[in-house]
Formats: sequence, C-alpha cells, structure tokens
Amino acid sequence: TSSIFAAVEMAPRDPILGLNEAFNADARETKVNLGVGVYYDDNGKIPLLNAVKAAEKARLESMPPRGYQPIEGPSAYAQAVQALLFGKDSALLANGQVITAEALGGTGALKIGADFLKRLNPDATVYISDPSWENHRALFEFAGFKVENYPYYDAATRGVDFAAMKACLGGLPAGSIVVLHACCHNPTGADLTDAQWQEVVGLCRDGGLVPFLDMAYQGFADGIEPDAVAVRHFAASGLQFFVSSSFSKSFSLYGERIGALSIVTAAREESARVLSQLKRVIRTNYSNPPIHGAAVVAAVLSSPELRQMWEDELAGMRDRIRAMRTGLVEALKAEGVSQDFSFVIKQRGMFSYTGLTAEQVERLRTEFGIYAVSTGRICLAALNSRNLAYVARAIAKVVA
Ligand code: PLP
Repeated sequence: TSSIFAAVEMAPRDPILGLNEAFNADARETKVNLGVGVYYDDNGKIPLLNAVKAAEKARLESMPPRGYQPIEGPSAYAQAVQALLFGKDSALLANGQVITAEALGGTGALKIGADFLKRLNPDATVYISDPSWENHRALFEFAGFKVENYPYYDAATRGVDFAAMKACLGGLPAGSIVVLHACCHNPTGADLTDAQWQEVVGLCRDGGLVPFLDMAYQGFADGIEPDAVAVRHFAASGLQFFVSSSFSKSFSLYGERIGALSIVTAAREESARVLSQLKRVIRTNYSNPPIHGAAVVAAVLSSPELRQMWEDELAGMRDRIRAMRTGLVEALKAEGVSQDFSFVIKQRGMFSYTGLTAEQVERLRTEFGIYAVSTGRICLAALNSRNLAYVARAIAKVVA
C-alpha cells in the first residue's frame, strides 16, 4: 500500500533561509552573510537590548502565573502599540476607532488580517509592491487570495516609480486590498515621500481601496514618530485600514514572535463588531497569543525610564546602520570604484538594493565567501567595523 504522502512534492527552498544554510556550511573564516534580515551589532551579534533585559529581570523576579491571555492579548500591550502607531493623542484612539490584537510577529499580524479580510471580501485581489518582502505573496495566496503586483521600484533612478505606481493604484477595482510598506521598504530601501503618501491616501479614498500597511521597521529610518508618517496620513483621512506591526527588529525580539494587527474602523460600535470577528479568526488559529514578548514590550513602553533606554538603543541601531551605509560608499570610493554608489546612503532601513547582478552576487559568494540575495539586496546591519573593508574590496573586484 502506498503512503498517503506519496504524491507530496518537495517544496522549493526558502531563498533566504537556503542562503543561511549555505553560509553556515562555508568553512572560510572571512565569510560574511549579507543575506539576512536581522540587525547585528558591531561584534556581529544579535543584541539583547538593556531595556529588554531590565523588563525580563523584573518579570523573572515576580514569577507571574502563566494563565491563558485574552484572545486579542493584553490591553496594556494594545495601548502601547496604538500609541506608537497613531500617537498617544490620536483622535481615533479617543473615539474607540482602533482595535489592536497581539500577533505572532508582523507575519502573524498579516496572516490574521488576511484571514479576516478573506471572510469580509473573499473575491478581492491583493496588490503588493514590485518587488516586495518575499513572504507577502505566498502569505496572501495561502489565505486564499489572488495576488498581483503594483509597480514600485525603478532600477534606473534607484527610487520609486511613483507615476507608474499611481497609474496602477488609480485603476484598481474598488475593494482591492493594497499592501503598503509603511517605512524602510524591504527589499529596496526606497520609501515614498510625505507628499506621495498623501497622494496614495487620496487614491485609496477615490478608488475605494482597502489599505493594509505593513510596518516592520518603525524607528529604523528617522525615528519612531517620523517613521509613522504613512500611518498618520491614513489616520487623518477618515478611511478604514489595517496596520500590521512588529517588534522583531525594533526590540531585537525576533524569536519571541511579537507583533500586532491594528484595524481602524468608522466608529466605536463598529470596532466592537470587528474585534469580535477578528477574535474568531485568532481563536480558530492558535486560540490566544503567548505572554512573554507582549509583557516585555508593554513593560518597557509604559515605564518612562525603560522607554528612554529603549529609544536610545533603537537610535543606536539606526545610527550604526547609517554609519555602515556611509562607510560602504566611502570604502568603495577608496577602492577606486568609479560607479556612483551614493544611493546607498539615501536608502532607508536595513537593506540596500545594490544593483549588483546575480552573476556578481554569485562571484561574491564563490570568490569571497560573501553571501547576498541574488537580486542584489544586502543587509547593511550585517556590516561591521571588521568586515566593511573586506566587503568593499570584494564588491570593487566584482564590479570592475
Ligand atoms: N513585513 C516585512 C516587510 C518584513 O520585512 C518582515 C520581516 O522581515 C516582516 C513583515 C515580518 O516580521 P516578523 O519577523 O515580525 O514576522
């Protein structure tokens, strides 16, 4: 008798995790992994923030019991998330127009949002940027949606092809779901300007589109408040919209799986109905969320002292990435590279679309043990004072 799994085919390897496996198997001591989406400190280590340590120490000392959490997570956590996204004096918050559920990272927030939307509007098409975070398409497809791209990146200017993006969004059928990177676009590092966000809000309003903002890097471009610009423009618009947010990067809590889904409704009474349905989605997926990450984040954000500590540490991560951007551009110049790489300084967040070709990326790996995504995306946060010169020399060789 044959196995019930006889017809199961091998799924394609995750491109980024596959890169990590190859990197780990590489015996060269000089190897560098620029393929990851993780912040490393100057010693090449994932930091455990002091603010997090302090909150964890207090939790450990109080030894709290581990009962089930509410389906949507604790309200102290929801309030902390809402203040970061919308600003603590937001009229939407005062009006009860925002519901927030703890989620398993930004990915979990996207997934419960997608499941909720599938029940609300099963025939909608989801539009994601071209290119986008590599999991967006599969996530919405697995939730049952058809997924299409809207134009975004322009390789010639290394910025956003805003005219093409506008033309596309302006022609979408009402009810289409548009996934927007709120800041620090992954993978390109190219963000919309303040004025462009206002135009996107107008297009969503005029076209009856459903905006789904994905905010995975708040604080990594210019700071907590300035990085919320997209959310704030949508908040001021009177539209209903979704925001997935994540503390994986900003709290360096990757493995704790801590994020949130926030939904803006038209009124308090509507919020209650929407939350009741979102809770069904959560209940049937994983019942209720884990305790630890939410407790740590809420403790840090509600203590003035820990919050200040966190903001300083977040600024430290942001500044180090910026220093690596400038450092890489200068080092490439010093290596005699004639091609202009100054765009790397303008790109925002953890990543840069370097314009390196798949062949050049391949040469970096085989000749130098430097791993990057074949699209030319590199993670600036994986550079440090010890590997920067080596990486610049290698890039200079492959672009020569
Ligand atoms: N959205 C974007 C654009 C991302 O880059 C990431 C992480 O790389 C996520 C969502 C998911 O983050 P998390 O690890 O919190 O699930």
